[in-house]
Amino acid sequence: MKLFNKVGIVGVGLIGGSIALALKKHKLCQTIIGVSRSRKTLLSAKARKAIDRGSQDIKLLREADLLILATPITVTLKLSPLISKIIKKGCIVTDVASTKEQVVSKLDSIFGNYIGTHPLAGSEKRGIAFAGADIFENSICILTPTGNTNPQTIARIKQLWLRLGAEIVVLPADMHDRILALLSHLPHAVAFSLMNSIPRSCLKLAPPSLKDTTRITASDSRIWSDIFLSNKRNIIRSIGIYQSELQHLKKTLQKGDRRLLIRLLEEAKKKREALG
Ligand code: NAP
Repeated sequence: MKLFNKVGIVGVGLIGGSIALALKKHKLCQTIIGVSRSRKTLLSAKARKAIDRGSQDIKLLREADLLILATPITVTLKLSPLISKIIKKGCIVTDVASTKEQVVSKLDSIFGNYIGTHPLAGSEKRGIAFAGADIFENSICILTPTGNTNPQTIARIKQLWLRLGAEIVVLPADMHDRILALLSHLPHAVAFSLMNSIPRSCLKLAPPSLKDTTRITASDSRIWSDIFLSNKRNIIRSIGIYQSELQHLKKTLQKGDRRLLIRLLEEAKKKREALG
């Protein structure tokens, strides 16, 4: 059963392109209209049959019943006031930004029928070339409705993500940002700082463990500077927690306390094992 007639997607990259491919695979809408910055992306999206029509002009979005904003956070914030003047009344608007408090607060005040989401899927890759129809299968999608969100809109967006294979978790935007600062933004901050701690001259001897722990430094710097800056308060707090942990490890080494050291390592190992 089709959930929507015309879906507009702004930003046909890794996440926007994957949503388009997944909507097509599950036959959840009639038509997909893609808007992106470059012609090259639009041509690739068409060639992959992710979108039916594409344009660099947001005016094409005026026919959409559902609009999905899948651009970097600063672009989403900048384009939203312009897009709000174009879309038809009743169009459901949603976004996939990785941080929610700032985005939800602004978009909730701009659009009449809006709900924020954050699909916990994707990777350090960027662009339509890496998009896939199955990336949301067995993933989690966080929904961040506010007091203004229409219950029918919550139900329809829940239905959409369930049909794409995701489990739904509903959280207030501020709680989302506190939790994701620890689960995702801190690990990225650590990986970037870890690489910057190592002199280039040593890197030719780098073992696989360094490559494992720093894979995510390949992430797009535009996307990630937006994430860091839009959640800086929570990320700074998380860096503080991490600094205390490192300090604890440093002191344990200074004391040469093997028993405590083993306890610290075992505790981390058990937590990591529980993740699967
Ligand atoms: P991406 O692959 O770089 O895609 C971003 C898309 O936005 C690109 O197609 C780009 O177009 C388009 N874009 C940039 N500026 C634009 C503009 N001014 N007008 C129209 N389109 C513009 O990035 P992504 O990983 O999909 O991330 C998109 C959003 O999803 C971000 O807000 C991110 O926080 C969120 N997110 C990412 C992940 C992840 O794992 N990557 C997971 C969950 C949520 P061109 O290709 O034409 O330049």
